[in-house]
Amino acid sequence: MSPVTDVDVIVVGAGPVGLLLAGDLAEGGAKVVVLERLTEPTTESRASTLHARTMELLADRGVLTRLGPLPDGGPGHFGGVRLDLAQADPTHPYAGQWKCPQARLEAVLGERAVELGARLLRGHEVVDVADLEDRVVVAAVTGDGDTQRFVAAYAVGCDGERSTVRELGGFTFVGEDATKSMLRADVAGIDIPDRRFERRPNGLATAHRWPDGSTRVMVHVFGAAPDHDDGPPEFATVVEAWERVCGEHIGHGTPLWLNTFDNTRRQVDRYRRGRLLLAGDAAHRQMPVGGQALNLGLQDAAELGARLAARITGTAGEDVLDDYHRERHPIGARTLTNIKSQALLLLGGPEIEDLRAVFAELMTLAPVRRHLARMISGLDLGRADHAPVTAQDSSAVVAHRPTDRRSIMGKLSGSTALVTGSSRGIGRAIALGLAEAGALVVVHYATNDDAARETVELIEKDGGAAFAVRAELGVPGDVHELFLGVEQGLKERTGETRLDIVVNNAGATTPGITPENVTPEEFDRLFAVNAKAPFFIVQRALPLLPEGGRIINISSGLTRIAVPDQVAYSMTKGAIDQITLHFARYLAPRGITVNSVGPGITNNGSAIFDNPEAVEQMAKFSAFRRVGEADEIAAVVTFLAGPDARWITGTFIDATGGTLLGQGAV
Ligand code: NAP
Repeated sequence: MSPVTDVDVIVVGAGPVGLLLAGDLAEGGAKVVVLERLTEPTTESRASTLHARTMELLADRGVLTRLGPLPDGGPGHFGGVRLDLAQADPTHPYAGQWKCPQARLEAVLGERAVELGARLLRGHEVVDVADLEDRVVVAAVTGDGDTQRFVAAYAVGCDGERSTVRELGGFTFVGEDATKSMLRADVAGIDIPDRRFERRPNGLATAHRWPDGSTRVMVHVFGAAPDHDDGPPEFATVVEAWERVCGEHIGHGTPLWLNTFDNTRRQVDRYRRGRLLLAGDAAHRQMPVGGQALNLGLQDAAELGARLAARITGTAGEDVLDDYHRERHPIGARTLTNIKSQALLLLGGPEIEDLRAVFAELMTLAPVRRHLARMISGLDLGRADHAPVTAQDSSAVVAHRPTDRRSIMGKLSGSTALVTGSSRGIGRAIALGLAEAGALVVVHYATNDDAARETVELIEKDGGAAFAVRAELGVPGDVHELFLGVEQGLKERTGETRLDIVVNNAGATTPGITPENVTPEEFDRLFAVNAKAPFFIVQRALPLLPEGGRIINISSGLTRIAVPDQVAYSMTKGAIDQITLHFARYLAPRGITVNSVGPGITNNGSAIFDNPEAVEQMAKFSAFRRVGEADEIAAVVTFLAGPDARWITGTFIDATGGTLLGQGAV
């Protein structure tokens, strides 16, 4: 068979990296052929996370428009400690992370490359690569056993971890072998709770229920040797590890997919040797944590494409190819270092608990979170050097996020909030508001499990994060029980117990009782729930609140107007305003603000608000002649919880819809 010679660049491997590169080269005027071993595109999606810098690159090439709206990937993590990547730059059009199955990305990049003129040859397994100084010759065995030779000016290995080009091209792949591995499986027919990087005495476990009802489990047994076999693990191995770490039996399930990954860390010493170049996993191998491998590879390809095309078309000299190595090698090395640190934090056993604690403490600092988020998002690599995002492309994705969410999104990213009494009513609206602004919310309640679960589900449905904690307030041990749940839940999800925002909302109310008929028992109950519990919640939260924390106490307009049938209840709200006043001064040196919000009559979803006559009577109290809505109180609380309210403390914010203006029948 005569060799194929009308080629400038041979790209080996039709994964996302090879296909992006092929498209860029073709667009830049190079004749490109892509050789791919597989006869059909893979349906397996090993990676699915795209970061802000990659989104920019895809936007610049019109690829985002082709992909259509991508779902928001929610907050990310650093070594299992929650880290909202939107904090890298909340104003960036692609701040955060985005979900796109690898198979879908490959299909679109393949389409683009072919449309731009690249030739994609599947079923071509590269078996020989020779750099002959003035050209390269690559031999590939085709499906019917023939050997086809391709002659070109350059060849680029985008052929993954086990790169043939790297091997045959004589590149030196330096680094460290695996010391730990993690087992992964998709299992049908099991019912276990979702958990995210849950550290348990014997290991680390993650479980996530897919929409089809199967569950993705990931497990690592502390101290276990890595699995050195090339193939997937036995299901029995996964079952045994899961049982050891979580104490749950999943052996009755059906494994749909089994896989293992490890912390091997290697990088070639040079990204270019003569006429051979490497990009993506062929150039660096790392643990696939947080989607960084795919993003790093796509960014390699984007940097190489324009340079190599310029070299081919004669507008640049050989040195641009050395520049590719000079630029991308340190970036790859830096990514490998962050991944190694994350692997240590994630898979280290009890011996790294102290390190995790220090790390989690550092991550309470906004500049630290921003630094790490920028590093992972790829935004610290000199965005100014790159073409701006086109308006057309950015709208394709941004439109997918509700605009009101975007306007506040990120303000509370990476923060955590406790809202007492958030199973229902005003508390639920507050929980939803804070979660929408990016906070991880603890939904506290007394007895109503279903309502609390519903609040959490509503938050999660909207892409937020929350968990519920049950603890009746006003009884002995109440605050202790509450914080056991709060601290455990936070630790599991964020690796620490930092609590940025405390909203004392839970409240006991009474139907009107004339002052003569208030019993000592009723008086004590109201004070226990509405005044004593909030005081001790604040006291207990003090060590958890970081610099710049927020305490918001839900008071009542009844502290400012006389309604004698509510005297005992109003006294409790007067007491909560005293918590606000005194703690505001006490906590100001720590930058913590403390404020009260006083609602008027507010629709909390209870039956009386379904009665039009009652609502009409209640509406008369407000200057606006209507009752308040729970989300109107939530908006005030969300503002107070955010950075824009940092100069407000020790105050009472009237959220009564003008009830205190006195037009009502009071
Ligand atoms: P709500 O609908 O009655 O909901 C009360 C919430 O507090 C529920 O989540 C409930 O949990 C929880 N809770 C009640 N007693 C508790 C206890 N002993 N221990 C722990 N949790 C308890 O209340 P709301 O009307 O939204 O009122 C919220 C806050 O706003 C209260 O502080 C109230 O005083 C104040 N406020 C309300 C109005 C108004 O018109 N709605 C006006 C002024 C001030 P379960 O679901 O488990 O029972």
